[in-house]
Amino acid sequence: MTDIQTSDPLLPVMPLEPQPTGPALPAILESSPEALTEWLRAAGQPAFRAKQIRQWLIQRRISSFDQMSDLPAALRTLLQNSFRFCSFEIIGHQIASDRTEKLLLRLQDGELVECVLMREPDRRTVCISTQVGCAMGCVFCASGLLGVRRNLTAAEIYEQVLVLHRLLQPDEKITNLVVMGIGEPLANFRSLTAALDLLTAEDGFGLGARRITVSTVGLPEKIREFARLGSQYNLAISLHAPNDELRTQIVPVNRSIGIAEILDAADDFHQITGRRVSWEYVLLAGVNDQPQHAEQLATLLQNRTAHVNLIPMNGVTELAMTAPREPHTQKFLEILIRRGIPATVRKRKGADIDAACGQLRLNRETAQH
Ligand code: SAH
Repeated sequence: MTDIQTSDPLLPVMPLEPQPTGPALPAILESSPEALTEWLRAAGQPAFRAKQIRQWLIQRRISSFDQMSDLPAALRTLLQNSFRFCSFEIIGHQIASDRTEKLLLRLQDGELVECVLMREPDRRTVCISTQVGCAMGCVFCASGLLGVRRNLTAAEIYEQVLVLHRLLQPDEKITNLVVMGIGEPLANFRSLTAALDLLTAEDGFGLGARRITVSTVGLPEKIREFARLGSQYNLAISLHAPNDELRTQIVPVNRSIGIAEILDAADDFHQITGRRVSWEYVLLAGVNDQPQHAEQLATLLQNRTAHVNLIPMNGVTELAMTAPREPHTQKFLEILIRRGIPATVRKRKGADIDAACGQLRLNRETAQH
């Protein structure tokens, strides 16, 4: 932890403006352009203010209604008393030596989620959460250890991108989005797609659909529904094992789904969208990392337009499992490549902070109980 720039990894930063107490106010971002125009009309304000307000919300790096400098002061106060500017408070901020930044967010009801900003020379990728906890129960994952508490709303999903955007320098832009934080995104389909709509809207955040990747445990009907949206989103499926016996041990929800069903749904996704499917495979030492597993995986994916992303397990304090040693990982990769399956090993980002999915939230939750 020597390279951490903050001595207290949970240092509160960027406090958002205090919100009036009382019943929770509606999130301004969940107000459609039409509804906002109507609200303005009722408040005796011209309709063009709706566009101004949305522009501020969606594209600018502000943290309160008060900073909407081209609005009359009275309107800013009215907005402040009528809407929630942001659905959460930042209660933790970690910065790794590779400049990966991770935020711990406290939602209005006290629940916690995380989101991450990763920097590479030519891209800035954000990773966001879609649920409080997760119901899938993958045995190596910190997010699911306490089960699922609730779905996030569209605003709670979208606002993670905005708040990470505010960490960037003025000349930097978010280039990519991965929905790989806490939760199973396809189990929160409506909020996920509403948030993605705002993020890809030209008068919204303006992120290209091809730069967005949604990662799923593999829910076949939801994969088909996702394909039928008619968008160019990327899909990553967390396979983690090449046969049902092993997958059910590692990914318990597999018991009622099965790999064959997932492959079928992935084929449909490819057929409908023309997009190549990514397969995630977390390497767990001595569990799913043997040469025969790589051979089986290659057999499953041969003749498919696929790419395998090998992820050496990120350590989770509460769990005994670990990543294989480097030569093991290389051997696994070589087998896939030799069999003609495009594959890469995911680079670790933020290794010196709690970058494993849900680890930061888990630390907080377990400290409190
Ligand atoms: N529910 C979605 C999103 C989960 S997070 C899904 O299952 O895909 C995104 C990826 O991180 C998944 O592939 C997940 O299995 C993986 N992951 C979770 N915990 C991990 C850990 N400790 N080390 C490495 N990868 C992990």
